[in-house]
Amino acid sequence: MAMIKVQKGTKDILPNEINVWHFMEKKANEIFNKYGAKEIRTPIFEATELFARGVGDTTDIVNKEMYTFEKSERSLTLRPENTAGVVRSFIENGMHRLSAPVKLWYKGPMFRYERPQAGRQRQFHQVGVEVFGIKQPTADAEVILMAVNYLKSLGLNDLTVEINSLGCPTCRENFKNKLKEVIKPYLSQLCEDCQTRYEKNPLRLLDCKVPECQEIFSKPEIQAVIQGDFICEECAEHFEELKNYLDILGIKYERNKLLVRGLDYYNRTVFEIKSNNLGSQNAVCGGGRYDSLVRNLGGEDTPAIGFAMGMERLASLIDVSNIPEEKTTAFVVSNNTIEAVKLTEELRAEGISTEFDLTNKKFVKQLEKASKVANFAVILGEDEIASNSVTVKNLLTSEQKTVKRGNLTENLK
Ligand code: ATP
Ligand code: MG
Repeated sequence: MAMIKVQKGTKDILPNEINVWHFMEKKANEIFNKYGAKEIRTPIFEATELFARGVGDTTDIVNKEMYTFEKSERSLTLRPENTAGVVRSFIENGMHRLSAPVKLWYKGPMFRYERPQAGRQRQFHQVGVEVFGIKQPTADAEVILMAVNYLKSLGLNDLTVEINSLGCPTCRENFKNKLKEVIKPYLSQLCEDCQTRYEKNPLRLLDCKVPECQEIFSKPEIQAVIQGDFICEECAEHFEELKNYLDILGIKYERNKLLVRGLDYYNRTVFEIKSNNLGSQNAVCGGGRYDSLVRNLGGEDTPAIGFAMGMERLASLIDVSNIPEEKTTAFVVSNNTIEAVKLTEELRAEGISTEFDLTNKKFVKQLEKASKVANFAVILGEDEIASNSVTVKNLLTSEQKTVKRGNLTENLK
């Protein structure tokens, strides 16, 4: 019969690579908790409208990349990102009534119909943070700090933090108009996507990866607009304060005036963290402030800022040799299956991961198996059974000693 294969752009995460995933998840819990963030888990599918409104219907995500399907005459979509879902839950569960800031973090699979390539899948995983209720730049700094410290905790160093300010809707309107004005003469030479962006979301023009478009954007009169300072005094002050905090905290950053981010809802601070050790898909983290999203999705006016990281990209950067291998603690080696199973269950009840031979193999074979999967062999021979003791062999150092059954747990721990 024909074999059924894994779908294009999706991957199994196999037992021999799971330890890096456990490592990323454990560190996320540890680091984000230190900042007072609590984990939230939202459903993998939501009403399509949530993403149309929450991500923005001029974005690539909503226009091209969503897995949308109908069920009972309802249009549903597999989440392409998790900010919209978290915001929906924030509103639905009245979290604006909690004392601000409300700090949430999440991890889990996301779905985007994209062309699969290195660092780009159709089902991939993100870990992210959202902080609600604070409009001051201290929140922007803290969120960037959380991202940087999380990446550090994974042992990742060679990273560049890029920041930019998109200003408020008013300054953005000004900028959009100026940009459209200088680009207008070249409109017919731009790619098809850019022609649509020009009408629907001109900021996203800067995000275009087509070389011919980039060449046009590098013309002096267009660069003068891009590199010019368009944000209003208040937004400029917010941005200056953020930079000040980052300086004080010792976080190095670069200003990237081309950084506009893919999503529609950002205002003021946007940031990206790039790895200098990845190919063309080098962004490991993207984030920004979205002060109007909660209101736009029907909630109370609540400022917010957050980020998301691509876990596959993180996994590819992590040096696995630094992560302790996940082995079973003990393997009971014995020719007496009844005694072996009893001891195994005793140890498990004490919280020690333990296995024994299920197949009645010869003693030596059992020892071989033990040294493959466990840290200790717990040997239960006739002598040991008679004297109510066991021999513990450290499978790393080959050291071995006989201890009383009562002292076994203590020895393994
Ligand atoms: P890109 O420019 O790489 O398409 P994006 O702006 O679409 O990124 P975001 O929506 O900001 O990405 O998602 C945050 C992070 O999630 C990215 O920086 C990246 O690490 C990861 N990511 C996004 N899309 C994918 C994908 N298809 N496969 C793997 N990781 C992804
Ligand atoms: Mg993308």
